[in-house]
Amino acid sequence: MKALDELTFDNRFARLGDAFSTHVLPEPLDEPRLVVASDAAMALLDLDPAMAETPVFAELFGGHKLWAEAQPRAMVYSGHQFGGYTPQLGDGRGLLLGEVYNQAGEHWDLHLKGAGMTPYSRMGDGRAVLRSSIREFLASEALHALGIPTSRALCVIGSSTPVWREKQERGAMVLRLAPSHIRFGHFEYFYYTQKPEQLAELAEHVLNLHYPECREQPEPYLAMFREIVERNAEMIAKWQAYGFCHGVMNTDNMSILGITFDFGPFAFLDDFDAHFICNHSDHEGRYSFSNQVPIGQWNLSALAQALTPFISVDALKEALGLYLPIYQAHYLDLMRRRLGLTTAEEDDQKLVERLLKLMQNSGVDYTLFFRRLGDESAALAVARLRDDFVDLAGFDAWAEQYKARVARDGDDSEAQRRERMHAVNPLYILRNYLAQNAIAAAESGDYSEVRRLHEVLNKPFEEQAGMEQYAQRPPDWGKHLEISCSS
Ligand code: AMP
Ligand code: MG
Repeated sequence: MKALDELTFDNRFARLGDAFSTHVLPEPLDEPRLVVASDAAMALLDLDPAMAETPVFAELFGGHKLWAEAQPRAMVYSGHQFGGYTPQLGDGRGLLLGEVYNQAGEHWDLHLKGAGMTPYSRMGDGRAVLRSSIREFLASEALHALGIPTSRALCVIGSSTPVWREKQERGAMVLRLAPSHIRFGHFEYFYYTQKPEQLAELAEHVLNLHYPECREQPEPYLAMFREIVERNAEMIAKWQAYGFCHGVMNTDNMSILGITFDFGPFAFLDDFDAHFICNHSDHEGRYSFSNQVPIGQWNLSALAQALTPFISVDALKEALGLYLPIYQAHYLDLMRRRLGLTTAEEDDQKLVERLLKLMQNSGVDYTLFFRRLGDESAALAVARLRDDFVDLAGFDAWAEQYKARVARDGDDSEAQRRERMHAVNPLYILRNYLAQNAIAAAESGDYSEVRRLHEVLNKPFEEQAGMEQYAQRPPDWGKHLEISCSS
């Protein structure tokens, strides 16, 4: 375990120089205080979780203090936003404080979001409000617990600093951790500003630090792009399998590491709805739940364009062609497991599709359906779940197919089935209304609910005594909360 002042820095991105980022100091929050910290994320930095409660912790992550070895930098990038190219974006309200490596030799970027204005703030104030900081914190740690690749969150620091959105709110900061904060948009920036040397430097940086194994391949950049395609396909397969809707899949929000990144108006599905749009500002539904799959490929092709100086167009196209089959394979594998199947049959895809279609028309809770399906034998479970469906004949037909499929899958006891299925089917997910309850309490100064919700979501697959209220369908008021980008 290390003390807070014992972190070891190695600021590799900062060393790329001023073409890539600008030195900016964090602007402190008034009266910083700990809202919530993640023990698991503290462990990534070898920090004792108890340190989160010390005053110096809130000072460090509330922008008041800085390690001597930190080199706070605002990174420049651009990106395609809702399909159109925006030539200049960048860390408008976040700073890469530095890169720390832990005892296991892993590097972690410390990125402080809500740290004040930077040269890339455009019309913004450089701040993040408490509500969005809590949402990002809870989502990153919850996704991680579900096994979905994501940036992590160390803590949220609240304050008395007024911040104006639709109304006056309070400023907060979230400390985000990731092995890198490089986005597709970083590559696009140097490509479209026609800076081939910096583009090459960036590509070398990413290859050397994050895809070193690709160095061994005959065409290292192509191997790296393929790997990025594969990781994104796998990540999005997991989003789809667990009902996660990102909400703003602009290329500046896509990580070069294939991790879930830059949380805004995200949502987990309550009722299954393939057409669900979680972002109130997404009028066309570009980033609707089911569109996430083709958009993932669209975004990868935007990255491919920026890599054309290094890789032939034919090779890039071929690599992009891997996306859908890889997505499909991961998705189907996970959905089979969610259905309790251990073997693969050709028609499994159809079995999944038919089920989702029935769910779509019935308003069935996506998470609880799968959880309940594993509670008992297939026959008993479908008999019990039947009542949730409107098209009973349709459900009965599906249930017969499912039971037959389970029988062909092989014998196992009810207990084995339950154990296997519950290990992949969460009981607790970050429902919007749960986040909303925790935020409302936090806004009035009570952080206990955020902390409790965070704890529950840390073990989403494990039934926790006394936590039944976190495993319920949303009440009516909590079903269609509108979440906007203004965070
Ligand atoms: P986002 O939609 O949060 O991914 O942000 C898109 C761009 O706007 C990024 O370059 C952000 O840094 C910037 N941005 C978002 N909110 C603010 C803010 N309050 N102040 C300054 N820049 C912001
Ligand atoms: Mg962003």
